[in-house]
Amino acid sequence: MSVIHILPEAVANKIAAGEVVERPASVAKELLENSLDAAARQVEVDVEGGGKRLIRVVDDGCGMSRDDALLAFERHATSKIRSAEDLTEVATLGFRGEALPSIAAVSRLILETRHKPESSGTRLEIAGGRLRDVKETAWADGTNIEVRGLFYNTPARRKFLKSESTELGHIASLVTHYALAHPDKRFRLASLTNEILNVPPAASPRERLYQVMGGQLLDQLVEFGPTERRMPQLAETHDDTDTVQEAALARISGFVSRPEVQKLNRSQIYFFVNRRLVRDRLALHALNEAYRNILPAGMFPVALIFLELPPSEVDVNVHPSKTEVRFRHSSFTHDLVRDSIRQGLLAARPVPAFPMPRRTALAAREPEETEALERLNEDAPPVATAGINPCLPSSANVVVRGDFRLASPAAAAVTGWLRLEAEPPFTPELTRPPVPPAGSEPSETRSREAGEFPSNLQPLGQIEESFIVATNAEGLWIIDQHVAHERILFERHLHRRSGAKVEGQRLLLPIVVELRPEQNAVFQDIGQELAANGFEAEPFGQRTVAIKTAPADVRAENVESLVLEILDGVGREARALSLEELRGRIAASVACHAAIKVHTPLDRNKMQWLLNELSRAECPMTCPHGRPVVLKYGLKEIQKAFKRI
Ligand code: ADP
Ligand code: MG
Repeated sequence: MSVIHILPEAVANKIAAGEVVERPASVAKELLENSLDAAARQVEVDVEGGGKRLIRVVDDGCGMSRDDALLAFERHATSKIRSAEDLTEVATLGFRGEALPSIAAVSRLILETRHKPESSGTRLEIAGGRLRDVKETAWADGTNIEVRGLFYNTPARRKFLKSESTELGHIASLVTHYALAHPDKRFRLASLTNEILNVPPAASPRERLYQVMGGQLLDQLVEFGPTERRMPQLAETHDDTDTVQEAALARISGFVSRPEVQKLNRSQIYFFVNRRLVRDRLALHALNEAYRNILPAGMFPVALIFLELPPSEVDVNVHPSKTEVRFRHSSFTHDLVRDSIRQGLLAARPVPAFPMPRRTALAAREPEETEALERLNEDAPPVATAGINPCLPSSANVVVRGDFRLASPAAAAVTGWLRLEAEPPFTPELTRPPVPPAGSEPSETRSREAGEFPSNLQPLGQIEESFIVATNAEGLWIIDQHVAHERILFERHLHRRSGAKVEGQRLLLPIVVELRPEQNAVFQDIGQELAANGFEAEPFGQRTVAIKTAPADVRAENVESLVLEILDGVGREARALSLEELRGRIAASVACHAAIKVHTPLDRNKMQWLLNELSRAECPMTCPHGRPVVLKYGLKEIQKAFKRI
């Protein structure tokens, strides 16, 4: 019996129209999605010539009967939806019924398939949209689709394809991400010369990440969630049968990078909604919010975010290639993403490992890898505001791009990740999975080694009267005294402000500050918030204000530069800042001006106080501008360096 049917015109017309076959990777995407929708447990993808010559996808899914196989190549033929209402609740990756006919129209295609209950299979040959041959065939369960000579009959479109390696890179990226979203399935991707990915079913997303990217990357990430929240409208109903409860839940989990991993663009942020990879501004915004005051402005984390929502909560009929979605409860979804990631980051409180000496690390690598790394470092533009704000990294070196721990033998995986910053996102040889040693597990010890900020540090002294050296049984720790104090003061100030008005301390003499017109305009805008942060000021002449109080931690001689910094900072952002962002800015500036400076001697008690306070901070790993506060040289690394293990 046929399960595929042609959608009535009225339904077909409601489907987001547009071309889906742009390049080999779009063919691979549609075929892969079909295999996953067919409940395949394993999917194998073979490509030749970057997919321009051949893309073959073989699965062990439900297969198709002869009638279905023929029908599948008609426009709007699908087994996945029937009516317009179904469009509001799509639970499969596909639903448009357009992929197979579109692909078959621009290639030479062979389909071999067998529907499980049937004794024989079907083989079809189609070229340029015309059926050339149909016959019965012996075929194991599942489906094999071979697409040869993509765009052979539309040379103009073929011309737009990029080099074989670029196209292969896109396919590798795609298969890798489907593999991440479906850890319980086996995926294999091979070109004529290379097996690019081959991963058996994994027990957890963490294990899959390890299979695909290797332990080095896992070390740079913090796992968050799963967090579950009831969808708003259903939260009010009191029906607690199992199915309703399940359907009403939103669930999120994933991996985000430690604060010291700072990327120059968003190319390593992956957001999956119901296991579909999508681009979504809302999620990017929520992620940014989660990293507020943890990452410097303009820097981006690595993130793999898996969001599961009831299908009726997500509109996937937005874009022909199904890469964009709309959420029915967008602010609920936004906040869930933000809160879960933020909680994960704060709970892990990850501390960066001690960077290995660069030269030693690089010496262990192949020359071209070294070159690539060096190029990456040279290419790094200096942080935009460097030099203006003393709290920001002053050179690109401080912006650790996840390339510490390079001396480890499994460095290949890190290189792969590092190079992902370039286009194409995944080049084939780099996604080659590191082969885990037999029986190995994603290493638990690694993540524990990376550790969190402890409460039992003993200060030993200072380096250059700027960096506190401390120890405990885990190893040696170096703490930047200025940014550590800044983090403590920042959290304290924000905490006070969130409770009520911050009481300022009366200055002995008011400080008179002259403002440029644009500073004056900002002052008019945010004067009230400044007052609530402890700065009482009065106009004093046309462009001059007299500041009468300032937050207690700030010394009088710093008040003027502090106020000007706040005004200039806000001015650059025009008036787009939210109140919360504005408070964060003010708190960060106050903290920076009030914190102990470098080149300041500290006695043991002061150092101990600072370490204790830091251990109680919510987010002790970076300063409010995203600079690292602490480095750890773990006992294992020390022992290794002395060749004791
Ligand atoms: P859609 O996926 O949007 O339904 P497609 O053109 O991609 O449309 O596929 C048409 C139909 O062909 C699907 O609805 C499905 O029933 C069937 N089909 C496609 N690929 C497979 C496969 N690998 N295994 C089983 N059935 C498939
Ligand atoms: Mg499909």
